[in-house]
Amino acid sequence: MIKLGIIGYPLGHSLSPVMHKAALDYLGIDGKYSLIETKPEDLIDTIKRLKVEGYKGFNVTIPLKVWITPLLNEVDDYANLMGSVNTVIIKENKDLVGYNTDIIGFINSISDEQRKKLKSRKAAVFGVGGAARAVAVGLAAIGLGEIIFYARDTEKAAKIKDMMNLNFPDIKIRVRQFTDYPDLSHVSIAINTTPIGMKGDYIGISPISKRSVESLPEDAIVYDLVYNPEETRFLQYAKEKNLTTINGIEMLVLQGAEALSVWIDKEPPVNIMREAVLKSLEQNG
Ligand code: NAP
Repeated sequence: MIKLGIIGYPLGHSLSPVMHKAALDYLGIDGKYSLIETKPEDLIDTIKRLKVEGYKGFNVTIPLKVWITPLLNEVDDYANLMGSVNTVIIKENKDLVGYNTDIIGFINSISDEQRKKLKSRKAAVFGVGGAARAVAVGLAAIGLGEIIFYARDTEKAAKIKDMMNLNFPDIKIRVRQFTDYPDLSHVSIAINTTPIGMKGDYIGISPISKRSVESLPEDAIVYDLVYNPEETRFLQYAKEKNLTTINGIEMLVLQGAEALSVWIDKEPPVNIMREAVLKSLEQNG
């Protein structure tokens, strides 16, 4: 039996167990994927336990994505760039290798054709947290020419700017104060990486005004990393203008598929994983 799981705190709303269990079942693999609530002060003990109990690997989520890095024997290039890890494999000799699959999840959520069109173009990214870092590295890998970050904390934005300038000198990085009314008329992809629009306190709210979404060119892509609800107010504004939209479900599923391919030697069943996520969102809201 293959043992997998997710560590973090709190884990109540994680969609990872349903997504990975559906994939394991479909592939005929006898396995389990457990929610392992872990606070930072319990991290070392949890990892020892997972090694002793024969776990093959685990996902890592808030607040442990950075805390875990000093405990790893190796990290992949993307995790190194991000300074954070969301997937770990426990090798036979009990060494821990960390990956960041959010970047690949983001890149793969944009089609080949869309990626070609985005080369050398401008992106607007709202928010400068962990997800924004993954998005920025993904946009650089796709070949965008410029990223404008909209941040309420411009000091935090300066750190992403430094990381990007150091690792991707060919892409121009600008930082602007977060505003409701940015002019996006020169932007080819606008991406929300804030929680604004998410179920809970932020539901029904868009990170920027309808007027700003309407300022985007006709061929622009509007991307919301929020995956619950499937269609946020930001995406509704974009649809009303017939713009191409992408919601957070694709990135969620594709980062999960990439994690699964780290742990098992089989092609991840992406459609089955997506179906499981959609069904769970439908049932639990
Ligand atoms: P995070 O590290 O806390 O970053 C959130 C960012 O949003 C920060 O820059 C924060 O600003 C900004 N922000 C929050 N509320 C804001 C507001 N009212 N006005 C302006 N800016 C605001 O969180 P994260 O890990 O990056 O996650 C962000 C969102 O992306 C969440 O909704 C998460 O579910 C989603 N996400 C989705 C996927 C996926 O696979 N689809 C993957 C990762 C994350 P401050 O720094 O000033 O607080």
